Amino acid sequence: MRNKIVLLIALIFTAFSAFAQQGRIPTKGFAKDSKDGHFHSYEFSRHAVGDNDILIDIMYAGICHSDIHTAKSEWGEIQYPIVPGHEIAGRVSAVGKNVTKFKIGDYAGVGCMVDSCGECEYCKLGLEQYCLKGNVGTYASKDYFHNDEITQGGYSNKMVLTEKFAIKIPKNADLKKVAPLLCAGVTTYAPIVNKEVKAGDEIAIAGFGGLGHLAVQYAVKLGAKVTVFDITEAKRADAKRFGAVKYVNVNNPEELKGLDNTYKLIISTIPAKYDLNMYLKMLKLTGDLVILGFPAVDNLPTITSGDILFGGRRKISGSLIGSIKETQDMLDYSIANNIYPQVEMITPDKIDDAYKKVVAGDVRYRYVIDMTGVK
Ligand code: NDP
Repeated sequence: MRNKIVLLIALIFTAFSAFAQQGRIPTKGFAKDSKDGHFHSYEFSRHAVGDNDILIDIMYAGICHSDIHTAKSEWGEIQYPIVPGHEIAGRVSAVGKNVTKFKIGDYAGVGCMVDSCGECEYCKLGLEQYCLKGNVGTYASKDYFHNDEITQGGYSNKMVLTEKFAIKIPKNADLKKVAPLLCAGVTTYAPIVNKEVKAGDEIAIAGFGGLGHLAVQYAVKLGAKVTVFDITEAKRADAKRFGAVKYVNVNNPEELKGLDNTYKLIISTIPAKYDLNMYLKMLKLTGDLVILGFPAVDNLPTITSGDILFGGRRKISGSLIGSIKETQDMLDYSIANNIYPQVEMITPDKIDDAYKKVVAGDVRYRYVIDMTGVK
């Protein structure tokens, strides 16, 4: 009798598992098992393509510094294995029956979010990145629409998500270079648009990397006079090439002289500890310092209430990626104006090496992983 019960339970369990697996999408990716581990190939599955979902065959995935912070648990312990990647471009290979925005064969992009509650005040305003329940991040996030499974990102060959959070990529776009726009592009485009940058404005971009070199291009396109702050002498000529009027190497004190009370807007993309008050003082009295960079939690820049008080009406705020509408607007604008990142292409076996080089400042300006060979 006891054996029969055990057998019955085993049968029910097997049937339940088979049901739960039904329609799931087998996926090949590249994962890390610990903060100090190395990337290795990793097979997993994604939830089935629902009525409102699309399946994307991923072709290209950018490496954002946020991938590095997350994969190394620099923002707090995460659950491993992790497949990072939230700068994703690929081709639609299946659509759910309610999908209207995409058809098979279209190009689609995915940024940092794959869903959000859709019901809170900020989702209703179309600001899903600030969802009060928390948006469902593209990786390392609990997908509360799919049994809380932990999402996995774009260093992989397949992605399933609701069409609402997928971005339409025009056929004429340079797909390899589109991938980084889905995070680095919108993260810099959004504050530049929201702060109403216009021709003649004196603005500064601190940190001239993946985000920074796109920020410079957007601001220059709008006619702003752009100063770049970075720590690498080798980037001076590039800043000028991208249209900046001035390059300041912050390691050279002479170059910092005379810059107080200069800028209407400073956007900081710096991913390391730095002197926040130095930038606050460089603003005009009603200027804005917008923080985009988010260093490791044990390496955050600090600012005192005294610094803020003497800063007067100068404002410090943050900006988190961009909404789905802002992402689509950014992509359409970038392609129409030929604004793209400068990329270095790598194969998936070079991800560890790429991480080291990004941290060492040895990339111009975004690594993009070619996933087309991963079948
Ligand atoms: P990168 O590493 O590509 O670029 C960072 C740049 O900052 C590099 O050029 C680096 O120089 C420069 N830098 C480092 N230290 C200093 C310093 N003290 N002063 C001036 N410049 C400095 O990173 P990303 O552009 O990919 O990302 C930047 C940050 O933005 C990260 O913290 C990332 O997590 C965050 N981020 C935030 C988002 C948001 O929603 N707000 C979205 C995406 C990213 P060098 O290359 O010489 O080292």
